[in-house]
Amino acid sequence: MKIGIIGGGASGMAASLWAAKSGNEVLLFERQARVGRKLLATGNGRCNLTNTKLDFSNYHGEDPDFAKYALDSFHVSRTLRWFDSLGLYTVTEPSGRVYPYSDQANSVVDVLRFALQRENVQLLTDFEVVKARKTADGFLVESKTGQHLCDRLIIACGGLAGTKLGGTMSGYQLLRSFGHHATKLRPALVQIKSSWQGCASLKGVRANCHAAIYHNGELYSESTGELQFTQYGLSGPVIFEISRDVCQKAGQWVCKLDFLPDIALGALEANLQNRRNSSLPVEDFLTGILHNRLGRVLTQAAQIRGNRPASELTDLEIHDLCETVKGFEVPLTETLGMDSAQVTAGGILTSEFNPETMESRLVPGLYACDEVLDIDGDCGGYNLQWAWSSGAVAGLNAGGKV
Ligand SMILES: Cc1cc2nc3c(=O)[nH]c(=O)nc-3n(C[C@H](O)[C@H](O)[C@H](O)COP(=O)(O)OP(=O)(O)OC[C@H]3O[C@@H](n4cnc5c(N)ncnc54)[C@H](O)[C@@H]3O)c2cc1C
Repeated sequence: MKIGIIGGGASGMAASLWAAKSGNEVLLFERQARVGRKLLATGNGRCNLTNTKLDFSNYHGEDPDFAKYALDSFHVSRTLRWFDSLGLYTVTEPSGRVYPYSDQANSVVDVLRFALQRENVQLLTDFEVVKARKTADGFLVESKTGQHLCDRLIIACGGLAGTKLGGTMSGYQLLRSFGHHATKLRPALVQIKSSWQGCASLKGVRANCHAAIYHNGELYSESTGELQFTQYGLSGPVIFEISRDVCQKAGQWVCKLDFLPDIALGALEANLQNRRNSSLPVEDFLTGILHNRLGRVLTQAAQIRGNRPASELTDLEIHDLCETVKGFEVPLTETLGMDSAQVTAGGILTSEFNPETMESRLVPGLYACDEVLDIDGDCGGYNLQWAWSSGAVAGLNAGGKV
């Protein structure tokens, strides 16, 4: 049987390898000059390929349960065994995040590339599929330069996120041409903009904090981890984790930051009262506790000004400063767009696919996997795990070996 797979990203390469297992002829179409381009940029170039603490609650979409079968049958330990069989050494961090031992995303891409060669998968790069349709003889896949006929077809084109790395509408358009429907697409795992001018002066500053997003005064999402200030707002893993659908609804959006989440307000207050004995000027009062620039900005935000020694700080000023450090409010305006997002929330309706095979319920012989479908995961390796799992299920079923 001839299996065509559109998209040489994470899920497309996984699907190709599993489809090739049962002796099928596999054609992998990739519109870019090489496979796995987005994969190379994942995890800041380190590729956080899965997470040993995976839980189904890490996945979202109109029906997140759709992902359960694939994630269960091709689970994290099976994925790690698979990568081991491909020759990849991995290391698991205490958070559960798994990285290649080399700390290089290209190790992941390379072992997949070599495996594609070993399994005789035919790689057609610079081949952008512009049209695909079902004919009496099979699926006809067309680019501007050529066409191929396949018995079964897997759409693994990814989503719109990370546009500069290959994110495209293509997969949605191809699946729509077969009669499928999509939910609204939104950027997820993305930076959030703020109208607060102070962000620019803190650009590049990192801090471990507890971040809680409020919509019209009600808690919307929260997490603890690393925050990074950018020219226009907030970034870093903790923000990615809580950014899903932020600012999509009208109303007031605020992020409350606790820069010392492990120290209770009372303990901090007592500690800072003792610090008053030092000869520090007030603007450097938080030196040694927080990043210098952050400390100065928070001191000013607590209305503590003037060229005077810390010994002149009043109890009330210290109390206000502690409240600012442990509950600093940053107004949020909107998230950045798809080119800055790591993943697309929304996608092709999962109700139109069989979760146990990834086969279309509308067009027999047509399959789809990963980001093009309406499933997205949290930050921490969950999206790539969905790529390996859904790609494996699609490849095995399209290939006829389950
Ligand atoms: C900067 C960044 C960092 C990330 N870091 C992580 C991380 O550390 N851990 C994690 O779990 N997730 C991470 N992600 C998310 C992860 O990369 C995606 O979830 C995953 O790559 C999606 O896999 P996919 O196979 O669906 O799509 P992709 O990997 O995007 O692959 C789709 C491929 O299809 C090709 N294509 C599209 N249309 C066509 C067409 N018409 N014809 C031919 N080829 C086509 C594209 O060029 C692309 O190569 C990150 C994303 C970004 C942008």
